[in-house]
Parts: sequence; C-alpha cells; structure tokens
Amino acid sequence: MFRMPVGWMLVTLLAAPTAQAVELTATERTWLHAAVPVLQFAREQRLPLDVIVQPQDTPGHTPMGMAFVDGRCKLVLSMRGNPEAQATLDRMPSGLQGLLVEAIAAHELGHCWRHVSRQWGTLPDSLQDISAYDRVSSENAQLLREMWRTRREEGFADLVGLAWILKHHPQRYDEVHAWHVKLRGQPVVDTGPHDTRVWVQLAADKHRFTAGSSIFEQVQALWLAGLTGGTVDRRARAQTAVPTPTPSGAVADSTGRAGFVPQVQSRQDQARGR
Ligand SMILES: [Zn+2]
Repeated sequence: MFRMPVGWMLVTLLAAPTAQAVELTATERTWLHAAVPVLQFAREQRLPLDVIVQPQDTPGHTPMGMAFVDGRCKLVLSMRGNPEAQATLDRMPSGLQGLLVEAIAAHELGHCWRHVSRQWGTLPDSLQDISAYDRVSSENAQLLREMWRTRREEGFADLVGLAWILKHHPQRYDEVHAWHVKLRGQPVVDTGPHDTRVWVQLAADKHRFTAGSSIFEQVQALWLAGLTGGTVDRRARAQTAVPTPTPSGAVADSTGRAGFVPQVQSRQDQARGR
C-alpha cells in the first residue's frame, strides 16, 4: 500500500497506452504498458480505479503502489527521480519483466478489491485473532498488530498476483512463482509486513487455487490456509529455526512467523476449546 502522495497527475485510462493525457517517461511507459491487461480487467469489473503518475521526484517510494482515497483506488506510479523504478525492472529475469509487472499490478488490484469490498484489514468471519502480545510494551503490541494486519493483506495480494498469472499465462506460472519465492525470501523483508512466504509457499501447488467466480475468490482458500497455518509443516521447520530480532523487538523464526505468533483460530475450534 501507499501513503497519500501530493501533487498527483491523473492518467486517463488506458485502453490504448499511447493515448494518455500526460507525457510519460520511458520507465513509466514500460510499467504501464505491462499493466494494461490488469487495468482493462479492473474497468470491466467496474472497480473504481484511477491511475496516478506522481510528477515530482519520489526517491525511495515504491514504484507502483495502491492508495485508497474517497472510495476510489489509486494506482500510483512514483518513478520520477526514483532510481528504484528502473532498477526493479533491471533486477527482473530477462524476458520475464512484462509478466512480473503484470503480476505486481494484479497484486495492487488485490489491495484495491479488499478496500472496495470493505474487507481490508479484516479476517474472514470464521476466524478470530486471539493474539496476546503481553510480552512486549503496548506500543510494540500495536506495531505488531499493524504489521500482521498488513502482512495478511500482502499475502492476499500476492495470491491475487499469482492467480492472475495462472489464469492468463499458465505456462509461465512456475517462473513467476519462483520470482516471488526469491523476492519474499530476501532477509531484508523476513520480519516485516511483506513477508508473505507462508502464502507463497502454499501457492507452489497451483492446483490449490480454486475455481471461484472471480480471481479474488479463487485465492480465498489458499489465503485462509496461510492464515491458519495450512499444510505448511511449521513445527518441523521451527525446530531448526534461528530467531532473529525485529525492529519491534519481537523475534521471528525461519518459518516467517513472528516469535509472538498471532493466534488466528476458527470460531468453531474456539467453541470446542481447541
Ligand atoms: Zn502490496
């Protein structure tokens, strides 16, 4: 997700990437061109999505992010004066850039859908967060709660990106999935809100995406599996886990779960006392 930017420039969408109302840089055109199928899908789905190009320099910003303002989603490109926009493309495997940007755009659309459907930050009705952060200060407990809420949303969005690729480019799914494994496994993110490894690992089995009526529904079962631990054998791997400190003072293990594991439990299990 993305913080509220200033000085936006609205790009009129986008059936034809050459017919935009503003002059785009080469890097912006590369990103937008790859995202067009996702943008067209959003329009077909009548999702309230605008594309915004930040005209001012935005060093350090996420090159492509999603904001939600006054009931509308804003796909925000922060690429001017931001070397990361081109560097991100350059780091991608040759020949895969277009598909990866498409997956990123679909990831962002996943965030949009969660907001529009008023579900962002919530758990499914069948689950309840019963985490107790009594080993940290109240300030750190709040940070941990926010981190986990964001991480859950990032997991959902990653699954939407992968489901998009599976639907539209099934023969390239394994390559795109492998990129997600690598990206999300980098140590720099292993304790932060973008550590979505639980979900990305589950998505290695592409047959676990279900045949829901929309791409957002097709990821629900996998997302739920990641929320509740799924079939990933975390206990076995936790035996060899080395805790590492996080900025918030909690610890994380190599399973990608923070040391103070949020307890997400089904309401039925709770009722049974499990
Ligand atoms: Zn995201």
